Amino acid sequence: MASQEIETLAQGLARLPGLGPRSARRAVLWLIKRRDTALVQLLDALEVLKDRLVECDTCGNVDTCNPCQICADTRREARSICVVEDVADLWALDRARLFTGKYHVLGGRLSALDGVRPEDLSIAPLIERVARGGIDEVVLAMNATLEGQTTAHYIAERLEGMAVRVTQLAHGLPVGGELDYLDEGTLAQALRARRPVS
Ligand SMILES: [Zn+2]
Repeated sequence: MASQEIETLAQGLARLPGLGPRSARRAVLWLIKRRDTALVQLLDALEVLKDRLVECDTCGNVDTCNPCQICADTRREARSICVVEDVADLWALDRARLFTGKYHVLGGRLSALDGVRPEDLSIAPLIERVARGGIDEVVLAMNATLEGQTTAHYIAERLEGMAVRVTQLAHGLPVGGELDYLDEGTLAQALRARRPVS
């Protein structure tokens, strides 16, 4: 069988989402065969990430610069903020350039079951961001789950009385749907048809 080092790598890869022990072992073999090309490239990319990965102080995105590239991009509409639960949702929305404004990552969703309270999420920083002014619209792009919607309502309440339009994704989103898993067409449709939070 393979050496301990190779086994350790396979075990590490097997923990990645979407990879089981079998495909992890296949990936290791694939890398070993391409030692000078793919393996070295991957190693360099991981090294850079390890050294330079930071959380954006403004929006909570993960990037190699702070503020992140999205916050620093002056071509983007700064008067519109899209609020998402996780970085994965931000990336899903941004992959197809569906939203041209800025983002705010909450870092999760309210959950009585898991004991996630408002102060555990980046909600206060969002309210501060809006209170500083210069923002016309807050788009609540929570997942179409019960907890996602509870979170959206809570934030909408906190924003009440502030001079900002609060909208949310139209729910052509499948019930229980997680943004990261939706195709771009469904996401685009939900974003286009966003409506005021009632
Ligand atoms: Zn940012």
